[in-house]
Amino acid sequence: MNEGGYRGRLAPTPTGYLHRGHANTFLKAQERAQSHRGQLILRVEDLDQDRCKPEFVDALLEDLKWAGLAWDEGPDVGGPYPSYNQSERLEHYQEAWRRLRNSLAVFPCSCSRKDVRMAVQAPHSEEGELIYPGFCRDKPFKFPSEEQALSVNWRFRVPVGEAIAFEDGNYGHKEFVAGRDFGDFLVWRKDGIPSYELAVVADDIAMGVTEVVRGEDLLMSTARQLLLYEALGVKAPAFYHCPLVRDETGRRLAKRNKAASLRELRESGLDPLQLQVV
Ligand code: GLU
Repeated sequence: MNEGGYRGRLAPTPTGYLHRGHANTFLKAQERAQSHRGQLILRVEDLDQDRCKPEFVDALLEDLKWAGLAWDEGPDVGGPYPSYNQSERLEHYQEAWRRLRNSLAVFPCSCSRKDVRMAVQAPHSEEGELIYPGFCRDKPFKFPSEEQALSVNWRFRVPVGEAIAFEDGNYGHKEFVAGRDFGDFLVWRKDGIPSYELAVVADDIAMGVTEVVRGEDLLMSTARQLLLYEALGVKAPAFYHCPLVRDETGRRLAKRNKAASLRELRESGLDPLQLQVV
């Protein structure tokens, strides 16, 4: 391991074939790791077992290699952690949840999605995100066992009105206001798995990641994640967000855009060196 050095990561979700946008972000992550003479980790974000498929994991390994990516730790190459698949790392997330629970940073929530949607004047952020109306914030709940506590939703209690600011390596100064841009967000789901926000933070901490390179669609998630780092008492990594690749009509690429998938591009004879970094 490069003690104290740069550690970046690639964190694909195997719910479909990777497309040009993923290649763009991952090549940037690789470029930044190389320019810092650092290391790159590959982590498979396969928590959503209904949507993630093993065939997409096989495909992503093949597609990443074709796109010219190589990693120092993760599937195929191993590393110090027993698993680089999130579905096999549940105890880490439970431990993070336990710490948040003990410090009262999170609260259990019995609201259904419908309750939140139907809340009288359910407030929306400017981006149209539903802000949690706070029904369960101060409700007393008692759980006879940890197992039962882990079978309900838990939300992070955001500091309403506080500006969460950070310097993005690509976009510069960014700021979001808790309670206005986003509300009390989920950290644990009643089906027994952590939310995306908690899982990436717990993993980026455990894996010693020093810089997170990812798509700009996650800029606001960074504000939420900074709150998690603070609540867990851990210094946050640096963040670098990449522009999203769009199709001819200006829409961001999605896994359903078959024509932009790395598989199709390979079959069409594209030279992977043309998967340029924007
Ligand atoms: N797995 C997430 C995704 O595919 C990325 C998470 C991250 O980079 O923080 O959107």
